[in-house]
Amino acid sequence: MKVLVVNAGSSSLKYQLVDMTDESVIAKGICERIGTAGNISHKLADGRKFEKDVPMPDHTVAFSCVVEALTNKEFGVIESMQEISAVGHRIVQGGSLFSHSVLVDEDVIQKIEGLAELAPLHNMAHVQGIRACIACMGKDVPQVVVFDTAFHQTMPQTSYMYAVPYEYYEKYGVRRYGFHGTSHRYVSGVMTDILGKVEGTKIITCHIGNGSSITAVKDGKCMDTSMGFTPLAGVEMGTRCGDIDPSVVTFIMKKDGLSPDQMNELMNKKSGFFGISKFSSDSRDIEDAISHGEKDAHYKQAKLAQDILCQGIKKYIGSYAAEMNGVDAIVFTAGIGENSPALRAEVLSDLDVLGIKIDPKMNEKAFRQSENICISAPDSKVLVYVIPTNEELVIARDTKEIVEKL
Ligand code: AMP
Repeated sequence: MKVLVVNAGSSSLKYQLVDMTDESVIAKGICERIGTAGNISHKLADGRKFEKDVPMPDHTVAFSCVVEALTNKEFGVIESMQEISAVGHRIVQGGSLFSHSVLVDEDVIQKIEGLAELAPLHNMAHVQGIRACIACMGKDVPQVVVFDTAFHQTMPQTSYMYAVPYEYYEKYGVRRYGFHGTSHRYVSGVMTDILGKVEGTKIITCHIGNGSSITAVKDGKCMDTSMGFTPLAGVEMGTRCGDIDPSVVTFIMKKDGLSPDQMNELMNKKSGFFGISKFSSDSRDIEDAISHGEKDAHYKQAKLAQDILCQGIKKYIGSYAAEMNGVDAIVFTAGIGENSPALRAEVLSDLDVLGIKIDPKMNEKAFRQSENICISAPDSKVLVYVIPTNEELVIARDTKEIVEKL
């Protein structure tokens, strides 16, 4: 069975064709600048790739470019789209309505649209992606939606409620939803496999990338997570501020006369690494500046940005260990989690209180690796692993499982 995984954003459409017989990726790519110009970049499993500018006024035209790339005479990997058995879509916000992946029908599409208020940039784009698929592949090809929020639906109410008047939860659904759930589910699943059991396990998964979130996973289920009502909460991120005293919001708005939208932009796009370092949102630039020492003009602010993130992750590890009354394993994943030995070493330093000991050599080795690597010392009381995330594989697996039952 071949499954096409689609991640439609407001101006982009990422795709991956997966052969489910061995879960290998046959081809993948991305359409960018949809709505303004249009560009497709397509890669094959054997390393061949092409990139071209094609006008893409909307997602349907972008999807037809994907069809063309997959079936193209020179670079094509399939004879026709009929070889694709199903499509799996990534959806950011499933609210309290979706705790599992589901088959798409008109009712599901309308529910995803109805949740758009909670994720305005994402959900409408996902729906455009689904409709583009239907337009290009027809109604008979089953489509499945996999939600970033679904894994977090097992949180107890004490984890997901905010102590604002209860009516805001009842009227508008104001609560913690959590995000990156597909990634937390995948890496915690790999970790329970390594531990050899699910029941009785206590795992903290740290998805640290441009967006970051940390999750407490007890008995294989999410118990608490750092992102909240939106993906703005939690630790410091590339351009997002993470947790702040809510009064800071009204204070800055009043002082600088900012509108809610301007304040939203400040917290989402101008804060985090970018806001503190004053020069970059990318951890590679931050670590580069730190490595040059005081002589680098950005050193001081870059170091502060990195230290704030490390302390933030450490705080979550401590609080989740307390919340679960222990921790068996800590997992690092995503762009920074998988590729920054320096960050992991700093986060895990001085955690003797939890019995955590790192193997420095293994920690250094865990950089741009595709396999799971144990970075804790043999006498560490807590296992620490670097596990490359694979959200697309989870989407493909869920899609296969649902479609096979039809
Ligand atoms: P993600 O959102 O998971 O794609 O992660 C993006 C972040 O990961 C950016 O801050 C990148 O700088 C960082 N990142 C990705 N690859 C590397 C790498 N090889 N070394 C250090 N940081 C990396």
